[in-house]
Amino acid sequence: MRSWHLVFSIALLFTPQLRAQERPGLEDLKQQAIAAVDARQVFTQQMVDQIFSYAELGFQEHETSRYVTGILERNGFQIERGVAGIPTAWIATYGSGRPVIAFISDLDCIPRASQKPGVAYHDPIIEGAPGHGEGHNSGSAVNVTAVLVLRELMQKTKIPGTLKIFPGVAEELLGTKAYYVRAGLFEGVDIVLGSHVDDSLATSYGQSYAPQGLVSVQYLFHGRAAHAAMAPWDGRSALDAVELMDAAWNFRREHLRLQQRSHYVIVNGGDQPNVVPSEASVWYYFRELDYVHIRELYELGNTLAEAATMMTGATVTRKVVGSAWPPNFSRVVAEAQQKNIERVGIPQWSEADQSLAKALQKEIGQPTDGLKTKVDELKPPSPETEKGGSDDVGDISWNVPMVYLRYPANIPHNPGHSWVDAVAMATPIAHKGSTAGAKVQALTALDFLLSPELVKQARDYFTNVQTKDVKYVPLIGPEDKPATEFNKDKMEKFLPELRKYYYHPSKYKTYLDQLGIQYPTVRK
Ligand SMILES: [Zn+2]
Repeated sequence: MRSWHLVFSIALLFTPQLRAQERPGLEDLKQQAIAAVDARQVFTQQMVDQIFSYAELGFQEHETSRYVTGILERNGFQIERGVAGIPTAWIATYGSGRPVIAFISDLDCIPRASQKPGVAYHDPIIEGAPGHGEGHNSGSAVNVTAVLVLRELMQKTKIPGTLKIFPGVAEELLGTKAYYVRAGLFEGVDIVLGSHVDDSLATSYGQSYAPQGLVSVQYLFHGRAAHAAMAPWDGRSALDAVELMDAAWNFRREHLRLQQRSHYVIVNGGDQPNVVPSEASVWYYFRELDYVHIRELYELGNTLAEAATMMTGATVTRKVVGSAWPPNFSRVVAEAQQKNIERVGIPQWSEADQSLAKALQKEIGQPTDGLKTKVDELKPPSPETEKGGSDDVGDISWNVPMVYLRYPANIPHNPGHSWVDAVAMATPIAHKGSTAGAKVQALTALDFLLSPELVKQARDYFTNVQTKDVKYVPLIGPEDKPATEFNKDKMEKFLPELRKYYYHPSKYKTYLDQLGIQYPTVRK
């Protein structure tokens, strides 16, 4: 046993380490990676534009997933499709052994956010259609450019390790990451490098003081239909239950912790007034600071829904649409990434880029300070308690050391989730910002691929600091399933129109060219 181990160690000493001596050093590899990302600027631009043109809503990212996995497959990645019971989810893998570095970025877009790129006022490509009003079209371009460069370097210089790429399916519904975790997709992963569109080049660590975790759930009330004038006494109104639940929630709201944030929309309020509504439903978001409080808020919602059934004689079932733990990012990984952020820096913006940014800022009544020209510093978690948006990568960050790179592909002061956020997303702003993001992703991956010690530090920090007191428990129950049928109708309605506007990179250099848009188009 012992002697076998010795032979094995000697073998180890003489094969990969010998190769390691021939291998260029980290600095040399980083320079090669930067040059290789620069050499792929057209590729990155085409990916940004192509996915922008697909404009697919959460769980319906069929074209986008086909396109991205096609590229990865042609470049030597193994693809596993339909993972975690989600048709548009997949994993792409290259290489073998440790460390395992994973990349993730979102795919989906926003309802009603269709917008002509490069135009600094509201001008939809297709009225009412979905559009990339968050900029998720750039995330795959960032990650795929980075992994293709890494794959080339790994192959050429025999760097051991595994690359894995995940799509952020239905991020706008907070719909998938808890299921990815439940399916064990991150077991054996050492580091996760997420990327998300932003107006700056930045990263962060730790936990937020704002309500960034949530449960998103629909309460479906079931009553009994009857003629609302001839036999109302035979009916039981599901809509009454919705209204009573909402009234109860709004009274109770005053007596909840100030940290909570909750909101709802009535998804179904019945069909017509002379029919007692047999079906009605309301969709709640329960947001709070941490698992325990999110859980409490969610359970209070369930109680009030039950109470509404007692008052009305209706019954209720629930459908969890999404859930998210508040993010908890790794300081070790963030510090390594920050050095690469400072090295790569903000792209060189042109006069045209700045004019578009300033014209859009003016249009929406914001300060007209244009695009950022400096990278952000790495700061401790913000004491800010107000901004409470969520991202379901939070669940991943409690299971693997992870960071979320924010790259400068969009315009500052945008409101988020609207046509405004789509304006820059198929223009040189998004193209250059995505190239910058790809560089930081590739450089940070190299740091971890070449240093087992750094991987160990991240793991130790994760175990002894990040998750020392709080252990991950999913917010979804064992009976909950991904809401993969969501957005199907909305997408089918617009698909025939959207197809006419798919980008054809073989015919047009850019999507702006294809649409015949002068860059930038601003109000006179
Ligand atoms: Zn997002």
